Amino acid sequence: MLRQVAEGVLIHESEFCQSNAVVVPGRAGVLLIDPGVRGSEMACLANDLSDSGQTVVAGFSTHPHWDHLLWHAGLGAAPRYGTARCAATVGALLSDARWQARIAQWIPPDIVEQVPLDLLGLITGLPAGTARIPWDGPQVRIIEHHAHAPGHAALLIEERGLLVAGDMLSDVLIPMLDLNDTADPIEDYLAALRLLEGVADGVDVLVPGHGSIGGADQVRARIDQDRAYVHALRNASLLGDPRVGPLATFDWVSGVHERQLQHLTRR
Ligand SMILES: [Zn+2]
Repeated sequence: MLRQVAEGVLIHESEFCQSNAVVVPGRAGVLLIDPGVRGSEMACLANDLSDSGQTVVAGFSTHPHWDHLLWHAGLGAAPRYGTARCAATVGALLSDARWQARIAQWIPPDIVEQVPLDLLGLITGLPAGTARIPWDGPQVRIIEHHAHAPGHAALLIEERGLLVAGDMLSDVLIPMLDLNDTADPIEDYLAALRLLEGVADGVDVLVPGHGSIGGADQVRARIDQDRAYVHALRNASLLGDPRVGPLATFDWVSGVHERQLQHLTRR
């Protein structure tokens, strides 16, 4: 089911980890950002779009993690974009003949059978430094940074006051740092938060990759909450974050927090 969150902009929320797919209408069709997770959900989205006479003319993956790289044949064969670093990271993954088995290990066992991997990651990398998604619709600014995953992009649609944050600024997930071969994941994360803070004034609607849609008042609040988490992680100080612990939406987040703490205190 699609619901409108800003003028013409629709969201499709997955049952998996409150993942949000974003549909932005353009002149000849829609831009689809991070399409979804379960095959049945993406098929439902494809049906909803075709029932309303809309075709997908472009896709975008915010970052190279499996749950943001999926696609369904019913969504058509439009170009699917990502940053150059995102595409390079996915390309390296897909060059391994056993990539499907590797990715399947990262998917929770209870849904792995429902996640279609055949069209995963067929991303066209936009040249480094590309400022906007090339499509015939409202201008979509690409804000690339190095937090969470290589070549992660937040998307800002200024004329709709909409920020699609990818895997940051969630009310249910803590900042998850990219700890793979990164020199300074803490500073990378803080730098990305500063980039988002720089555009916060123009944002009326915040769509995180996972979690609830936020209004204007939520943008700075979530930036501050993410920054406080990253500072606490850096200082290994006591944490009072509702996304971790007994009140957390997802109990597995505590394990992620512990692993991040251990990784960073070992350095
Ligand atoms: Zn991610």
